[in-house]
Amino acid sequence: MSISTAASSAVFAVYEPVIGLEVHIQLLTQSKIFCACSTRFGDPPNSNICPVCLGLPGALPVLNREAVTMALKAALALNCRINPRSRFARKNYFYPDLPKGYQISQYGEPLAEQGALEMDIGGASRSVGITRVHLEEDAGKSLHEGFPDSDEKSYIDLNRSGVPLIEIVSEPDLHSPDEAYQFLTRLKTLMLYLGVSDCNMEEGSLRCDANVSVRRRGAASLGTKTEVKNLNSFRFLQKALTFEIERQIEVLEGGGTIQQETRLWDSREQRTYGMRSKEFAHDYRYFPEPDLLPLLISESWKESIRRSLPELPHLRKARMMREYGLGEQEASQLTGSPALADYFEEVAKASGEARLSANWILGDLMFRLNERRQDITQTPVSAVALAELVSLIAEGTISGKMGKDILAEMFASGQRASQIMAEKGLQQISDAEEVGRVVRQVIAANPKQAEQYRRGKTATLSWLVGQVMKATRGRANPQVVQEALKKELGPSAPA
Ligand code: ADP
Ligand code: ZN
Ligand code: MG
Repeated sequence: MSISTAASSAVFAVYEPVIGLEVHIQLLTQSKIFCACSTRFGDPPNSNICPVCLGLPGALPVLNREAVTMALKAALALNCRINPRSRFARKNYFYPDLPKGYQISQYGEPLAEQGALEMDIGGASRSVGITRVHLEEDAGKSLHEGFPDSDEKSYIDLNRSGVPLIEIVSEPDLHSPDEAYQFLTRLKTLMLYLGVSDCNMEEGSLRCDANVSVRRRGAASLGTKTEVKNLNSFRFLQKALTFEIERQIEVLEGGGTIQQETRLWDSREQRTYGMRSKEFAHDYRYFPEPDLLPLLISESWKESIRRSLPELPHLRKARMMREYGLGEQEASQLTGSPALADYFEEVAKASGEARLSANWILGDLMFRLNERRQDITQTPVSAVALAELVSLIAEGTISGKMGKDILAEMFASGQRASQIMAEKGLQQISDAEEVGRVVRQVIAANPKQAEQYRRGKTATLSWLVGQVMKATRGRANPQVVQEALKKELGPSAPA
């Protein structure tokens, strides 16, 4: 795109981006939505199939109650109104991975509507509208690559056919790529807390299409939107929106008009492309699914699910700030996933040092995990093991610097801090007598610096502390060293 940074801030003063997301989330049920086949990811192709999810004539769908329970959890956590009666419909289109020739989805009468997700934008809380949450089945998967004859054939794996999904549609309430990114992040966190999905974008259990338009600031109506697909990561969502917003502004500035169309993000070329018109001609001819009864949700079922909801992210964050004296930023990061929040609470309780635990988790532990591209669920350092390290640091047995080295070793070998310390003779020297001995040696070896200090050059003290630390290979307690040096050197005053 040719809009320069300077020019782009000028056009953004004139144009306002408007974004609405459509998010598909795979539910973590054991079996598919309308049959008993397993939903396990990664099984051999076409091993989890039956007449229902193959779409064989005469096979009848039976709704999975667990899928409805999970969808209700999601909808309630998104503050939606639950429709006491919703219906399934057939969404007709032809694609090789859709054996029935239609997808069973909810259309006119969805499970839930009119919700909201709370966001934090520029330090202020703002809610983004949720238009609807509905249930549907997934399609199979076409495999175009990875086979010896992939240049002439595509293969189809129907294991995913009939896996339960919820579609969450947002109102066009988002106004920048960053806001869209935050919305999707919060949505993912919420689903992880509810335990209804693993929201793994790489495995396709979280998918997102972005609708975007721009309009002159202050305009009463929305501009014409495009729908961007093929967004396989959070980064791509942000990049594709940035590209698309700039493209639309450029078209409008050039006197053109925006075509309402579906566009694909091309991550190699870092741009969006319009699809050929035939590929997006939406004419699904929805009609009611005759093989399924209307879905009725009783008040008591709804309320029992509401009562069963776990502590949600914003409440957990507030509680952790209160209970552990954490700052807003720390609490936000630590509640980013339920697994991380659990880990923190375990370390904090076992060590009795909440702030220090937070520092070590968000600092060194996260750094090492990121380095290995792992998340907290894969950590080789258990919460109990980290708590032990944090306690050793808190009571002054080891210094922060030693703690860093020991944690690196814990990562590498899986050993406990106490084991590593015993093996390497790593113990902080805080004993005044022992430190005093080294201090006297250092003073004797550096008479010139000792004299400078006595004549009033106080800055020399930290150089001398450094020498003592060097002599003890970093094991001396710096506080104790400083006191011992002052005592041995006597007063520092100009002659
Ligand atoms: P469609 O009829 O194309 O499916 P919908 O009105 O159902 O469009 O909305 C689909 C998604 O697009 C929703 O997330 C909605 O918030 C968003 N959306 C609708 N109109 C616009 C617009 N003018 N600009 C940006 N997003 C929009
Ligand atoms: Zn099946
Ligand atoms: Mg629509």
